[in-house]
Amino acid sequence: MTKNQIPKDAIKCLDKGFVRLVDSMGGDDAIVQSARVSYGQGTSKVSQDRGLIRYLMRHRHTTPFEMVEFKFHCKMPIFVARQWVRHRTANINEYSLRYSEARDEFYFPDPAHIQFQSTLNKQGRMGDVPAELKQKVLDYFKEISDRSFAMYSDLNEAGVARELARSLLPVNLYTEWYWKNDLHNLLHFIGLRSDSHAQYEIRVYSDAMAESVKKVAPFAWEAFQDYVVKGMRFSRIEQSLLEKQLPPRVVDDISEDIAYQITATMHKNKPRDEPDLYPLYQKQGGSDSEEDFKFKWDSGEIETGNVRELREFKEKLQKLKK
Ligand SMILES: Cc1cc2nc3c(=O)[nH]c(=O)nc-3n(C[C@H](O)[C@H](O)[C@H](O)COP(=O)(O)OP(=O)(O)OC[C@H]3O[C@@H](n4cnc5c(N)ncnc54)[C@H](O)[C@@H]3O)c2cc1C
Repeated sequence: MTKNQIPKDAIKCLDKGFVRLVDSMGGDDAIVQSARVSYGQGTSKVSQDRGLIRYLMRHRHTTPFEMVEFKFHCKMPIFVARQWVRHRTANINEYSLRYSEARDEFYFPDPAHIQFQSTLNKQGRMGDVPAELKQKVLDYFKEISDRSFAMYSDLNEAGVARELARSLLPVNLYTEWYWKNDLHNLLHFIGLRSDSHAQYEIRVYSDAMAESVKKVAPFAWEAFQDYVVKGMRFSRIEQSLLEKQLPPRVVDDISEDIAYQITATMHKNKPRDEPDLYPLYQKQGGSDSEEDFKFKWDSGEIETGNVRELREFKEKLQKLKK
């Protein structure tokens, strides 16, 4: 790749970097296919495939997600690569500065991302930096990049080994690599590196790779959002607080809603005759009178979901009722 060139099919990242999906193997279908080995031939419809993927994600049955592979070509500053490389499950092949000459490509931050050291988070930035100080930051970035590259080029021309001369170059120099990983570990990466606690510069790359996941495995991406990114887990201490403080009435009200939702979902999946609906609702633990049931049922406001998931939720709720 020649200097500052971004491949046509790549997502531009930072000022000179990019992420490009080179290849992928499998998608949602590969997850379902491998899961069926353990669960039998139970599912075949698209809706059932989605349900199975969501079940796997919810229960952290992770290996089927490892059946999907992604290979990316990425170009990033070395300080971003240092964070990235901590994710040990990937296969990497990087541009060699022993073999090839470094290119004069350095990261210069966008002024909008030049901020003060955060006082709340030791690993973050916050607040607006005055224009004068921003300019100073940019001038320093430029000065160190130009000066180090001039010294590096000088040593190169004098025939000094590239593997030694490169150590003069700062970590805002761009590097490139091929990075291959499976979906399970890629989602783990995205969970950590697209999070607001991650450094902005790596977040940009993580978000770019996420775009490929959305396209290649949309059900897995949706489940990842629902159960991992936007899901919540409680510690033992938090749970015991909830057990103590949550009025049983609240748990009962939610359980009642769930009974309605399970009934409506079962009816949607396999329509029942009207007289069978109230007994079905009672079987799901519903305790409203038949009159109240009919009133609510006719309102058409009952949401549907996934029966298994709703039952799991009900079980969790009951555990909070001491
Ligand atoms: C916001 C943030 C701040 C960070 N700050 C620092 C810091 O200050 N200093 C620092 O050094 N690092 C820091 N890190 C890096 C962090 O500690 C992890 O090294 C990095 O996020 C990779 O995570 P991982 O090990 O789970 O991922 P991966 O290496 O991708 O591994 C994925 C999973 O595979 C398993 N695994 C992989 N290899 C092994 C192994 N050898 N043994 C056992 N299990 C394994 C683990 O379950 C692991 O979770 C930070 C990361 C983040 C996101």
